Amino acid sequence: MSAIPKTFRVKSFGCQMNVYDGERMAELLGASGMAAAGEGEDADLVVLNTCHIREKAAEKAYSDVGRLRREDGSKPLVALAGCVAQAEAGEAKARSAMIDIVVGPQAYHRLPQMVVEAAAGRRLVDTDMPALSKFDALPVRRRATPSAFLTVQEGCDKFCTYCVVPYTRGAEISRPWDDVVAEAQALVEGGAREIVLLGQNVNAWADGNRGLSGLIRQLAVIPGLERIRYTTSHPVNMSDDLIGAHADVEKLMPYLHLPVQSGSDRILKAMNRSHTAASYLRTIEKVRVARPDIAISGDFIVGFPDETGADFEATLNIVDEVRYASAFSFKYSPRPGTPAATMENPIPAEVMDERLQRLQAKLAEHSTAFNRSCIGRETRILIDRKGRKPGQMIGKSPWLQSVFVETEAAIGEMVDVRIDHALPNSLGGSVVRQAVAA
Ligand code: SAM
Ligand code: SF4
Repeated sequence: MSAIPKTFRVKSFGCQMNVYDGERMAELLGASGMAAAGEGEDADLVVLNTCHIREKAAEKAYSDVGRLRREDGSKPLVALAGCVAQAEAGEAKARSAMIDIVVGPQAYHRLPQMVVEAAAGRRLVDTDMPALSKFDALPVRRRATPSAFLTVQEGCDKFCTYCVVPYTRGAEISRPWDDVVAEAQALVEGGAREIVLLGQNVNAWADGNRGLSGLIRQLAVIPGLERIRYTTSHPVNMSDDLIGAHADVEKLMPYLHLPVQSGSDRILKAMNRSHTAASYLRTIEKVRVARPDIAISGDFIVGFPDETGADFEATLNIVDEVRYASAFSFKYSPRPGTPAATMENPIPAEVMDERLQRLQAKLAEHSTAFNRSCIGRETRILIDRKGRKPGQMIGKSPWLQSVFVETEAAIGEMVDVRIDHALPNSLGGSVVRQAVAA
């Protein structure tokens, strides 16, 4: 039995959807009377919002729990949230006596009540996936960062053979049109100038016969909202309508994250990806016709079971064909309970390492080339943080690059800059016009 916590800290790991959930948990705890702990201050309640996508990410959750013990031997109330909580449920508490609450990604609207019960000495687990959407129970959004996340779709029915998401996040659900529009409006009133629509398969979003392109067009008329993005998309849900929105919705930024995973049809089939290398390339071609300057980004897995040298070469080839502006690449990590975890011919660690290095070197060539092609361009950036040097600020280009500039503009303002130089992961620019008024 302990006192009801007065202060809290939420730490989120993994994908942007976890960042969104972390923000919503903080808003919920704030609305129930707790205050966010200050920088460096011990919090009475710590929520670890975890990621289960690869083994390393899941193990990190437990080592972070262990580190919450204070020097005097006391501990905060500890809530394990997110996908590790969902996947491990009751077992999580068996693995660490530090954990008081285990709450899954679809049940965190019950967190304030669970905190009260845990303070009274109960150890609680809630990994239900209730039919009633948690979103209905969350408070209205009041404050937003200049670029704000908005989850519109959750879960996944695709069942790629390597992936835990269908098990940890449940079946694909889309939030209703009106709820999304209302949340977007609240975010803009709270200070957002850019909204990033999120979903495990965001382009599968639908409300009746209305799809993501219609939603984007609706959001584009919100006064004060300057930019719209969406992520992550699945190649099979990349409809002509959505591609068309890239041609004629000015506020839709020229950036598309469209993971391919592998360039080999044999591996794509074993992954249950439901696209081929050729169908993926056709989609990219259509997107480039609609928006010639678009930055394409992707995800790759190397070392999937039975991946031969020739399969891996096919992945390198597709990287050359697409010329990715940026990408995430991972070594295959077997996840318990997924079909791929028991597939034959696992790839030795040293082969995976070598393939990952070669892939990343090629991806870096293309991202450097893309960034260099921006030199001399005039473009608008949204300032989102301070740089390390005095007077330096960092903003995001339409193509999602970080741009370093010297300016007096504040976070949340937009500035027109000329790009002067390029590095593999960022650009440097100089201001050509003062900040554009909000
Ligand atoms: N829904 C998105 C899609 O299908 O493209 C991806 C969502 S997943 C959260 C993000 C990325 O993690 C995947 O695109 C994949 O590259 C990577 N990933 C998922 N499971 C993995 C595993 N078992 N091992 C290595 N990487 C994995
Ligand atoms: Fe995982 Fe595949 Fe669903 Fe993406 S589409 S979340 S990789 S199962």
